[in-house]
Amino acid sequence: MKTGFIGLGHMGSAMAANLVKAGHDVTVYNRSPEKSRALLDLGAHEATRVADACRGEVVITMLADDTAVANLALANDGIVANLSKGAIHISMSTISVALSKKLAQAHAEAGQRFIAAPVFGRPDMAAAAKLFIVAAGDPATLEACQPLFDALGQKTSPIGAEPAAANLVKLSGNFLAAAVIEALGEAIALVGKAGIDRHAFVDLLTSTTFTAPAYKIYGDLIAENQFQPARFAAPLGHKDIRLTLAAAESLRVPMPLGSLLHDRFLRLLARQGGEALDWAAIGGLAAQDAGGAAA
Ligand code: NAP
Repeated sequence: MKTGFIGLGHMGSAMAANLVKAGHDVTVYNRSPEKSRALLDLGAHEATRVADACRGEVVITMLADDTAVANLALANDGIVANLSKGAIHISMSTISVALSKKLAQAHAEAGQRFIAAPVFGRPDMAAAAKLFIVAAGDPATLEACQPLFDALGQKTSPIGAEPAAANLVKLSGNFLAAAVIEALGEAIALVGKAGIDRHAFVDLLTSTTFTAPAYKIYGDLIAENQFQPARFAAPLGHKDIRLTLAAAESLRVPMPLGSLLHDRFLRLLARQGGEALDWAAIGGLAAQDAGGAAA
């Protein structure tokens, strides 16, 4: 498919590469143009303006946050202003429910189609085309995008006709992952301070009653105290908890654990260098609070 791809960060660069490798005709745009180079070598075309990435049947955004997506989608010379009637914007970033609704309306008013398809999986899974994609929007539009999803992920889970549903599901999943990280951090701090081998503890749990990938991935990082280089940066994790709490507030759903996690991210980000760490570093805070080594 003739596809524009906007946002070549940790996730987007790997995802755009997989689209090119699968034979799609991909035009890439990134705010910092040097990140396009490897993709151009692979066979992608370069867009020097957002508008030039909006000439195909589809444009995908994989940008950091609401500000970036709103700036590039809704600006005077942005995606909505340039996409053809009937063309599709697939928003794959983790953004707010409110912005997703705003984008759906703006695209509908312009005669364009919009679907939300945020992903679960870190950059290594993106590179291996093993992402889990949560997709929501008009069923025929989702079906038209399936060849793209097949090139990016191992499974696509449709979650409804309202795009914002996918964003809420993604945020809820990341809330759960952050809660797992915090809980692992506290448990590992406890056994570690008692002199028990942290790795042996994680190996024991993840091979018996806690076998889900989230426990294994984050348990190993916390036991290792390995939070750099950031594959999913702490400010983005903080953003996801903020957006979860905003959605919870608008639906009047108390999430006390969400408020606690928000505070943990603030504690991490207030520290010098905190912004450069992986979000798993909130799992290192409990050991520090117990008098252990800084993450
Ligand atoms: P990233 O490495 O920080 O990349 C962010 C991208 O957004 C870059 O292309 C950056 O451009 C662009 N950007 C940021 N602010 C911008 C602005 N104001 N205007 C224009 N472009 C802007 O982030 P990532 O890890 O790839 O994550 C991308 C999205 O996927 C986020 O919504 C994140 O929550 C979500 N996600 C991430 C992971 C993960 O493990 N990393 C997993 C699942 C979902 P520059 O290159 O110019 O900075």
